[in-house]
Amino acid sequence: MASPLYEHHQIQWLRAGEEIFKEGDKGKFAYIIEEGEIEIWTIIRGERFTLNVLGAGSLFGELALIDQQPRSASATAKIDSLLILVTHEQLHRRIHEADPILKLLLWIIVGNFRSETNHFRAASNNFSASIRSLDQLDKTQLSQKISDTFKLIRMKDELKDAIAEKEFNLVYQPIINLENNQIEGFEALIRWQSSRRGYVYPDAFIPLAESTSLIIPIGQWVIKQGIEDLKKIREISGQHLFMSFNIAGCQIEDPSFIPWLLATIQEAEVQPSQIKLEILERTLFNGEHTLAWVRDCHAEGFLVVLDDFGTGYSSLQYLHECSLDGVKIDKSFVQGIGINPNSHSICQAIINLSEALKIAVIAEGIETANHLQTLKTMGCRFGQGYLFSRPIPFENAIAFLNEQLASSPPSRDRQTNS
Ligand code: C2E
Ligand code: CA
Ligand code: CA
Repeated sequence: MASPLYEHHQIQWLRAGEEIFKEGDKGKFAYIIEEGEIEIWTIIRGERFTLNVLGAGSLFGELALIDQQPRSASATAKIDSLLILVTHEQLHRRIHEADPILKLLLWIIVGNFRSETNHFRAASNNFSASIRSLDQLDKTQLSQKISDTFKLIRMKDELKDAIAEKEFNLVYQPIINLENNQIEGFEALIRWQSSRRGYVYPDAFIPLAESTSLIIPIGQWVIKQGIEDLKKIREISGQHLFMSFNIAGCQIEDPSFIPWLLATIQEAEVQPSQIKLEILERTLFNGEHTLAWVRDCHAEGFLVVLDDFGTGYSSLQYLHECSLDGVKIDKSFVQGIGINPNSHSICQAIINLSEALKIAVIAEGIETANHLQTLKTMGCRFGQGYLFSRPIPFENAIAFLNEQLASSPPSRDRQTNS
């Protein structure tokens, strides 16, 4: 019966004895044997040496396509055979879509195989010293990769348990209205108090969580906890502040995210306009899908802000079409103020652009009075940074808010669009 693979792949008929590829050739295709038998062979000390005879259903020739090295053996049809051809693009698309840990394991297996065959050859054929030293280099890199992979696998397992073990907690960084110095809201930032690793900052585990979809349950925990705390902030201070959450690409792709968020705020009796979703520029690269997601968020009344603005591939077109509620100037530009004239110009350009598009600007990473004064002069209205406060635990955030309310009670409604 014809395989469904025929629909997308080329096929090749071979007569017995016909050559498929030779050792040293560049790899064009990988092959699946639909019918027949294929001999994989090599020449050692002038003699033909059969490495394997493969039957229907086997895959061969894939290594050279994966690591783009020359063929390490030759292949010939032993009897009349039918092959399905897999192109470089078809194989790489599948590898590209694979789980990152699987990708690394694949790299290791391919590397190990190449390393073994090269050693075998070096011993048999007296390969040059330079090739042997290259081999050596590969081995070091390989053992590094193996150790990195196992570290990642271990961290992934620990992350899986961290929610149940209650090892995550949130810290909150105030976002300040630079015109009147009042707190407009907080950004929720995750921390991991790991029983094995101690206190872990998000940069050390969020990329792994994002690449393995563990960010979905972790992100849900963050939002649920942040919304509960937002409710308490209102109960304690009477303030309708907002809470900003960092949203990863796969949360945007999760169709249950918006309905779940809506149910979560309703349960906590929090308004959608109190929720800001911070997305990265690179998620806009996903084009139409992200645009539709932003529209759906807006339809429910949530606010969407572009984080780390200026560090990714910004498209002014998307910025325009998305009708975002704010952009955050990345801290690398803010911290360049007074040091690098380009940073200064970039901050000014982002502020001017946002003003023209009627989008609020929030500068992050404000550390010095000079950063603050310069940004205010440029027309920036909102900011966050160590100058005001580091990200702090909930109790400290409440104390910070109360202190501010005691010194200067708010003069207007706080449901602004920062
Ligand atoms: P981000 O969204 O750009 O968050 C701002 C980061 O800048 C935070 O680092 C904050 O502590 C730091 N920061 C704030 N003010 C200053 C300052 O004045 N100077 C300096 N040098 N740094 C300042 P943090 O908390 O380590 O977070 C790092 C990144 O981890 C965040 O960058 C965000 O991309 C990610 N992240 C944190 N929590 C979550 C989360 O719940 N979900 C997702 N998806 N990502 C998260
Ligand atoms: Ca952020
Ligand atoms: Ca940021």
